Amino acid sequence: MNIHEYQAKALLQVYGAPVSDGRAVLRSEEAKSAAGALDGPLWVVKAQIHAGGRGKGRFKEPEAGNEGGVRLARSVAEAEAEAKRMLGRTLVTRQTGPAGKQVNRIYIENGSGIDRELYLALLVDRNAGRIGFVCSTEGGMDIEEVAAATPEKILTLTVDPATGFQGFHGRRIAFMLGLEGKQVRQCVELTKSLYRLFIEKDLEMIEINPLVITDGGDLMCLDAKMGFDGNAVHRHTDIAELRDISEEDPKELEASKFDLNYIALDGEIGCMVNGAGLAMATMDIIKLYGAEPANFLDVGGGATKEKVKEAFKIITSDPNVKGILVNIFGGIMRCDIIADGVVSAVKESGLDVPLVVRLEGTNVDEGKRIINQSDLDVIAADDLKDGAEKIVKAVKG
Ligand code: GDP
Ligand code: MN
Repeated sequence: MNIHEYQAKALLQVYGAPVSDGRAVLRSEEAKSAAGALDGPLWVVKAQIHAGGRGKGRFKEPEAGNEGGVRLARSVAEAEAEAKRMLGRTLVTRQTGPAGKQVNRIYIENGSGIDRELYLALLVDRNAGRIGFVCSTEGGMDIEEVAAATPEKILTLTVDPATGFQGFHGRRIAFMLGLEGKQVRQCVELTKSLYRLFIEKDLEMIEINPLVITDGGDLMCLDAKMGFDGNAVHRHTDIAELRDISEEDPKELEASKFDLNYIALDGEIGCMVNGAGLAMATMDIIKLYGAEPANFLDVGGGATKEKVKEAFKIITSDPNVKGILVNIFGGIMRCDIIADGVVSAVKESGLDVPLVVRLEGTNVDEGKRIINQSDLDVIAADDLKDGAEKIVKAVKG
């Protein structure tokens, strides 16, 4: 689960990490008083969307201007005007995809004078089986290019969970970031706080980019991105409240209500599969035959007819879907339940794209009988390869 920058900064503040004072703005009438509550003389007005690259992003609407989603203002009036120009408009960044994201919230904060921009992140390093810090002296808006062109400038340090975070970890990170004097102590405090936050709130990722050295020589977190482990959010009601469902894919949101493992993708072939491994294999083989999957969907083991029906409806509701492949290898999952669910979903909401069904395993004969006796226009397939070939052919001709 991801949260907004302003929410992440509020958490950072609770944990004692250095952030600027700021105010979130949801309605344009609030912009003036939000900016007025801050000291100035520099304000930063920031679009709040669950995507990075805002600084270099562009708005779709010309009224928003072409300065991107992070703007500096020199007065309350200027800050208010920038907030109003951005609110409700659509920001396209390299992380939003071409459709962009509507800006429903703005964060206005005290601007900082910047001496250097650094990069600091924490993540779960699965190879090491530890929490890892990722650091670079080359922070800022081009970190992706730094990682691609000069990977030696990205340094990592993992923390042994048996000892936990120690002062030397913080000092080593300070050294990696080229810090000196009081900044070393500030870095030890900051990294210690981030590590504690990461563990206590079950995070998957914290990214501070940029972490800056201000013109006064102090460390300050200018941007903050946080991702929480979705399987642990129920343990933290304060974090669960930060969820902004307007930032989530509506299809994924609908799927989560029915406890379905569904991820929306960009392709044209909708897939309904049981088991994550088979779902991955199905996506691979669709690509092999020259098409792209529109989603990842694992209906799981003990799905009911209702759940299968909802899953199928979510797939057909996606306008990008030009064909559907149902690929079931029934073990615990019974083929007749899949067939029942698919047939009743089509009865309710219709079907205007080709459908290839491959059923194998438990109750397969009953499943096939249900499909055959419905008047569904189905292309039957014998195995995974046959199914993929048939659906790609049906869609691409
Ligand atoms: P992102 O583009 O979505 O990652 O948004 P950031 O919050 O990282 O902001 C992008 C860039 O705006 C930063 O790399 C800074 O160069 C600049 N910026 C952000 N906050 C400030 C600030 O307080 N003062 C100044 N001078 N620049 C800022
Ligand atoms: Mn950033």
